[in-house]
Amino acid sequence: MKHAYDVVIIGAGMGGLSCGAWLARHGMSVLVVEQNSAVGGFCSTYRRGDFHFTVAASEVTGTTPDGVIRRVLRALGIEERVRFLPLDYGYHVHFPDFDYYIFSGDTDARNRTMDQFLKRFPAEANGIKKFFAELARINEQAEYATFLDTSPRSIARVMVKCPTLLRHMGRGIVPFMDAYLHDPRLRAALSINATCANLPPSRMAAVGIAGLLIEGSRSIPHLAGGAQALPEAFAGYIRNHGGEVVTGQRVCGITVRSRCATAVSIVPSALNTHAPSLFPTEIQTRYVVSNVSARQTFNDLIGHDQIGFFYRKRLNRYMVTPPFCALLLGIDMDLKALGYGPALHIYTSTYDTEEHFKNVSARMLGQCGPEPFFRLQLANLSDPSSAPPGKTALVIHMIPAPVDGWDDPDFEHRVADVMIQRLEKRIPGLSKHIAYREFWSPHTIDRYMMCGQDASIGWALTPQQLGPRRLAQETPLRNLFLCGHWTRPAIGIIGVVVSGLQAARMILTREGVAEPLEAIGVRGGVRIG
Ligand SMILES: Cc1cc2nc3c(=O)[nH]c(=O)nc-3n(C[C@H](O)[C@H](O)[C@H](O)COP(=O)(O)OP(=O)(O)OC[C@H]3O[C@@H](n4cnc5c(N)ncnc54)[C@H](O)[C@@H]3O)c2cc1C
Repeated sequence: MKHAYDVVIIGAGMGGLSCGAWLARHGMSVLVVEQNSAVGGFCSTYRRGDFHFTVAASEVTGTTPDGVIRRVLRALGIEERVRFLPLDYGYHVHFPDFDYYIFSGDTDARNRTMDQFLKRFPAEANGIKKFFAELARINEQAEYATFLDTSPRSIARVMVKCPTLLRHMGRGIVPFMDAYLHDPRLRAALSINATCANLPPSRMAAVGIAGLLIEGSRSIPHLAGGAQALPEAFAGYIRNHGGEVVTGQRVCGITVRSRCATAVSIVPSALNTHAPSLFPTEIQTRYVVSNVSARQTFNDLIGHDQIGFFYRKRLNRYMVTPPFCALLLGIDMDLKALGYGPALHIYTSTYDTEEHFKNVSARMLGQCGPEPFFRLQLANLSDPSSAPPGKTALVIHMIPAPVDGWDDPDFEHRVADVMIQRLEKRIPGLSKHIAYREFWSPHTIDRYMMCGQDASIGWALTPQQLGPRRLAQETPLRNLFLCGHWTRPAIGIIGVVVSGLQAARMILTREGVAEPLEAIGVRGGVRIG
């Protein structure tokens, strides 16, 4: 590490890495500081013996030949370093008496997804078609607006070009459905994807569901080698272009003088077992980009007194995405051979999705209400390298998880045991085939991601926290920028890559670069060509 850089980026999630890569591409000296032992944040793969567990992001949208992720990889010249493994369907959703797929990958995928509902709910055919058509318009217009900011010119463009998006921007998926769908089972089926953003449908933005149902049907591959391949490719690019990416180091403070960030202080992180010293190293910098939680950035790294009353009030009003827990099982069973497709499998014991978000602690242990909702992360079945032949690396998510109770190690064990018992109803004999077992509570997840024990994927994707209402990349400090899922446009790999590019664009514009995103076909915030 040197003593000074043009830009210091705090956190090597996909937001921070895409920002760093784009700045390095333009010749800026970049340091990315990551407290975990590897880069990637929620887009990582953890190796445990022969099993490779992709714990959070496992499927990536924006990967059609013309998608944002592909365009960025191409512009950086690293497209060859990642191999996307196409999935026939990204999601397989299991209700007690009905299951369906969100097909993906060809122009007909959306129709094939829709056909399943038309067959099952013929009386609602008209509404179903209109529901999908309106979501497709929202998604198309959201794509147009992706790189626009809140300047008067951009706002005028959005008003002219994105009327459907504007009409539904502040609407939740439940009121949105009212105009089209009536059968409660159909409504449950078409809103259960809210749980992919760890939210009940009553809180989820309609725009978020458009991203999952429509964008997800265009392309949603897994990655060869697991999610980790993507951040590694970006980190490699930064290192090959004069930048540095250091892991096992935590930023513990940002020095501010006259409303300007001038330096960051770095200590070895709690996950760094070879910590040579605990004295902070101070690194001077012209710009700081924070890819970490907005609460950590302003409460812990900077201090409240450095930001104004209104910004502080705004931060306090935001709602976080609730936490989840994950059980990692290495099993000597081949789930693909047993008929499981490579996809995210969502299981629910009830059509009342809201019920899963009530009395969470008691329900986790089966003490009340319907059996909790859970997800099997199995996109990795498309990647033979994720486990030895005949075996499977399985990640089970329970969403949401309670915030409290995890200090008691016995609680963790009991929750994990109950999860295995429930899963055994679907995979008979499972408990006798477990070769590796590891449980991640919200505390574990916080240790690896530093997202906060009461939170997970940034500010919740509610209608009140989208578009201009979400935190911008600019902050009250002149040269401090934000990126990642605590900022615009949204959660998810495609969202945070866009946020990182936006932060880079703002810095490069200040440095006098005209049209910094032209290489990915964006001029003045809109697509060209
Ligand atoms: C269970 C689950 C499944 C998901 N599935 C998908 C999916 O299939 N597809 C998809 O597109 N998205 C998915 N997502 C969402 C997606 O993973 C995230 O939105 C995205 O990865 C977040 O990236 P980020 O850049 O905001 O930062 P993060 O991934 O949160 O990274 C921030 C980094 O900052 C580091 N850090 C924190 N504090 C400090 C500090 N003080 N000093 C140094 N480093 C620090 C952290 O260790 C972390 O590595 C999923 C999320 C979850 C939770």
